[in-house]
Amino acid sequence: MSQRLQAPRGTFDVLPEDAARRDVLAATARTTLGRAGYGRVDTPVFEATELFARGVGEATDIVQKEMFTFDDGGGRSVTLRPEGTAPVTRAYFENGMTRLPQPVRLWYLGPFFRRERAQAGRFRQFTQVGAEAIGSDDPTLDAELILLLADLLDAVGVRQVSLRIGSLGSATTRAEYREELKRFLRAHEAELSEEVRARIDLNPLRAFDADHPGTRRVMTAAPTLLDRLAPEDRAHFDEVLARLDDAGQPYEIDTALVRGLDYYTRTLFEFTSDRLGAQSAVGGGGRYDGLAEQLGGPHTPGVGWAAGIERMLLAAEPPAPAPPVVDLFVALAQPEAGRAGFRIAQEARRAGLGAQVEAAGRSLKGQLKHADRLGARYVAIVGDTAEIGLKEMESGEQRDVSADTVVAAVLRGPRL
Ligand code: AMP
Repeated sequence: MSQRLQAPRGTFDVLPEDAARRDVLAATARTTLGRAGYGRVDTPVFEATELFARGVGEATDIVQKEMFTFDDGGGRSVTLRPEGTAPVTRAYFENGMTRLPQPVRLWYLGPFFRRERAQAGRFRQFTQVGAEAIGSDDPTLDAELILLLADLLDAVGVRQVSLRIGSLGSATTRAEYREELKRFLRAHEAELSEEVRARIDLNPLRAFDADHPGTRRVMTAAPTLLDRLAPEDRAHFDEVLARLDDAGQPYEIDTALVRGLDYYTRTLFEFTSDRLGAQSAVGGGGRYDGLAEQLGGPHTPGVGWAAGIERMLLAAEPPAPAPPVVDLFVALAQPEAGRAGFRIAQEARRAGLGAQVEAAGRSLKGQLKHADRLGARYVAIVGDTAEIGLKEMESGEQRDVSADTVVAAVLRGPRL
């Protein structure tokens, strides 16, 4: 026998009970975001590779090593989407949403792909729910989105949540600050990890992220971007914080917050949950006022977040909804009754009942036991006559009915 096939590393199957939990989560997202005026958008699972190279940034880990990229068969490079903001921004322009009243509020939910080292809470195919407000730089939107994610996490039962928030300022401030940070890092080069040293030019901000003890020591004295914010960016950040304060939303200001995507400007935030292990980030996002231009569009500010469904479920374990109701189980007293039984089950489902028919060749006794395990309210026992034994499971009462009145009798319930 050949080796049994398995799903690729870093992927997983969603079984019915998990699917039910995910449905609850999706419904909660729809309600929470819908109330605030966010409309659902679905973009393709693969996009032109250039969208991510330009949108997410060439220097990021995502673009450098985590994308599943392939030829589309016609010589064009396409990539399984690793994130949702660049695609949603593309869709905003491509579908003429610039003509709508601004900002345009959108949300999405679907699969995303990153070639990451698989571990608990980190997969190569995972599911994100995300929200974006495009077309305005009003700090109200930053605060609105942060509070919506906080509400969503709360509504699905994610507890022990903390919010870290920072600001990256404008692209100019960031560029100046990058130079200052590079000079600082070069002055301490000997104490830094090899990886950080190798990336001083490419991505100096990553030094704040390092676990390496020497690097961490150096970084405690590093200049922070928050200290360098231009007055208008500082004012924007303060407005966001004031709204969070008004809403009673706790947060911690993180001067060294970095995220693995290059498009962020100004506000940056991340929610973590202590219920999760090493991969404690449950969702995060920020403002990306420069992204549209990077994609070749006119200057168009935007802000948004994405949260991982799998991590939310790990941190929350929302109860699965009740299993489907089985109003009628159609048992076959003999194999020849198969067609008649099938017809009854079909008729019952069309009438809106939950109905299942025997399909495993069990003995009649076995079928009744199976129906009991399913929690069936009624069992129709179909034999070789036009008469059908209809048994009410709770009372054990049984009587004969004709084949064409079985469904009506079950609908009439509860007693025969
Ligand atoms: P990011 O776009 O990296 O900020 O990711 C946003 C959220 O998506 C994270 O906070 C996680 O909850 C989730 N996420 C990102 N990458 C993965 C992954 N490889 N596996 C599972 N969840 C992920």
